[in-house]
Amino acid sequence: METPCKDLIDTHCHLDAAVFAGDHEAVHEQARRAGVTTMVVPGISCRGWWRLLDLCTRLVGCYPALGLHPLFLGDHCGEHLGELERLIATHPVCAVGEIGLDFWDKEADSESQGKLFADQVAIAAQAKLPLILHVRKAHDQVLAMLRRLRFSHGGIVHSFSGSLRQAHRYAELGFCLGVSGTVTYERATRVRGVVAAMPLADLVLETDAPDIAPAGCRGERNSPANLPLVLEALSVIRSESGADIGAATSANARRLFGIGAID
Ligand SMILES: [Zn+2]
Repeated sequence: METPCKDLIDTHCHLDAAVFAGDHEAVHEQARRAGVTTMVVPGISCRGWWRLLDLCTRLVGCYPALGLHPLFLGDHCGEHLGELERLIATHPVCAVGEIGLDFWDKEADSESQGKLFADQVAIAAQAKLPLILHVRKAHDQVLAMLRRLRFSHGGIVHSFSGSLRQAHRYAELGFCLGVSGTVTYERATRVRGVVAAMPLADLVLETDAPDIAPAGCRGERNSPANLPLVLEALSVIRSESGADIGAATSANARRLFGIGAID
């Protein structure tokens, strides 16, 4: 689709996911043609970090983040934290993520998740890197931990789905809210209300590809080239121009991650 902004940033796409194997270049090229010049690719487990780093050196405008995702606790071990420290000290990693707490499943091991999260927040603080957060049913807990740990390097709450009160609390701590394809669904009234009410300075765009396909592409493999659909929905929800929202959210992401503009 025609995009009103030629320099969009997808702050969360899993280009390294198995479903993109074999056509990374094509997906990347299609995204660039849609005006998505920059993509942040977050890691989920130690096993995938090297492949992710390699992919981001090959594809222009792709920036790696490394982290241990709370939903894959069984894949992680203490040594991976040491590896995380080593890799972020020696590679151009833009954030620690995606990390966080996911209490969607009531049986989730909240204690182990909390320990893993706190350890990674400490590593990010040491390296002065922002965070990419994955949080479900645990916003108050994450907010309390960030405060207790005095984390001050900000980041993004990916595909934010909490309340307006929680959104303001994150903003106070220097976090932007990741606006994903969820907002393209009219029934997502709470999240649409939140992204309408928050200042533009607190929002960034993301696709979460290959997940969260926007309305109209449901059931399909999502792609960073769909980011303009998220922008378009946000523009309608906020009654602001796509050009203004695109420029502001890209500037927010560049500031957060310390990423320069791309020609
Ligand atoms: Zn993700």
